[in-house]
Amino acid sequence: MRRIAIVGSGYVGLVTGTCFAELGNAVTCVDSDESKIARLRVGEIPFYEPSLAEMVARNARSERLTFSLDIGSAVRENEIIFIAVGTPMRADGHADLSSVRSVAREIGLALDGPKIVVSKSTVPVETGEMVSLIIREHAPAAYSVTVGNPEFLREGSAVADFLKPDRIVIGTEDAESERVMRDLYAPLDAPIIVTDVRTAEMIKYAANAFLATKISFINEIANICELLGVDVRAVGRGIGYDHRIGTYFLSPGIGYGGSCFSKDVRALEHLAIEHDYPAPLLHAVEQVNRHQVERTVLKLERELDGLRGRIVTVLGLAFKPNTDDIRDAPAINIIGRLLDRGVTVHAHDPIANELARKAVGTELAFFDDMYDAVQGADAVLLATEWNEFRTLDFPRCALLMRGDLIVDGRNIFDAGKVCSAGLRYLGIGRVPRLRGGNFDAAGVVRATAFENEITRSTF
Ligand code: NAD
Repeated sequence: MRRIAIVGSGYVGLVTGTCFAELGNAVTCVDSDESKIARLRVGEIPFYEPSLAEMVARNARSERLTFSLDIGSAVRENEIIFIAVGTPMRADGHADLSSVRSVAREIGLALDGPKIVVSKSTVPVETGEMVSLIIREHAPAAYSVTVGNPEFLREGSAVADFLKPDRIVIGTEDAESERVMRDLYAPLDAPIIVTDVRTAEMIKYAANAFLATKISFINEIANICELLGVDVRAVGRGIGYDHRIGTYFLSPGIGYGGSCFSKDVRALEHLAIEHDYPAPLLHAVEQVNRHQVERTVLKLERELDGLRGRIVTVLGLAFKPNTDDIRDAPAINIIGRLLDRGVTVHAHDPIANELARKAVGTELAFFDDMYDAVQGADAVLLATEWNEFRTLDFPRCALLMRGDLIVDGRNIFDAGKVCSAGLRYLGIGRVPRLRGGNFDAAGVVRATAFENEITRSTF
């Protein structure tokens, strides 16, 4: 059993702290946000993450997990201090390290004995050294080691990801810190990669940059497929079975979002530029992603014959299913552009309506029921592939809608069912084969009778 403090109790910090408590450690989760700590103390989880609430409650009851606003006491009373604060993108694309600096300073001011300070936050190469310097500046006599330990969990499956990781990366050259960190993670029985701190920092950026690249790659292929009348899903299958390529992250869509991919790709690009390497691939990955949002708006504009005065229903606001996180969500970016162009937007998300209302304001109408949101729409845009949208009742939509366009931004619908209900279907890079009918050059299916062997695939 170790005594652990986690500074920053957001998506990563709270999951990390709760899972370490679940593994039998004594954990204090610290945050500077008073309302967050107050809610956590009464058992409320400040965000949506499947199965986290029960685990927090269980560990809080057994007093293995406590919550605090007092970073000084947390530092003094624990042996391992994790930094899990946000590292958002600055306006110039660099990572904003102000929270990391401020926590390092507070750790330094409180330090009264040997501690292991672990960076869980995603940070540019050299940040570990910066954290060590700041701590030493404020606590020249106390001994501490800074370890890099990037996190790879995915929101929506964060608890399962943390407890069953593909690998654990530990960045340290200090033998005792390595031993303690190995011991901490031993119950997870995952491969452990030990590097120096800088390499650990780079591994996290490289991992996110690679995943983002894979998404932008398949989106670009989808855009070309649309022009050539080729179905990208078959292309994805055709390349994905090649083990060197792999099947994951080959589903085209309206672009990636969330708090990590864009900020990390851009932070890595800027880090490279600072060192005189222009990183053109990373630049292009982000460009393709932004283009995907623009392209969706242009498709709506083209198919609706203009946008002003139209009503568009957006189904799904979170950046992906099973989370309420709307940070940099493509749906929110598209909605902003639609509102600017005079569109009336109806929105529905199973979980994220409230957060989106706070972020986007009252310019759009939020609906608790998806069919109420569809009422009167000229077009419906599926933006997030929540499971409940997979069984959308298209005949009911056809009766409720003013127009007839379904834009499937995640390629989850059966185009045949959409068309059978008398609606038009437009997917991403997806041109279903028609029986006795035609699809137009833009890939919009207008016929009701059509077959699509590819849809039947289990890929
Ligand atoms: P978050 O915004 O959800 O949480 C950060 C928390 O830190 C907030 O609760 C904030 O109040 C708190 N905080 C900020 N300054 C503080 C201070 N000085 N003292 C105490 N608390 C402070 O962020 P997140 O999504 O959990 O991300 C945290 C880090 O983990 C980032 O670097 C991110 O890139 C990385 N990461 C995120 C994910 C993810 O899926 N969200 C996955 C892997 C890595």
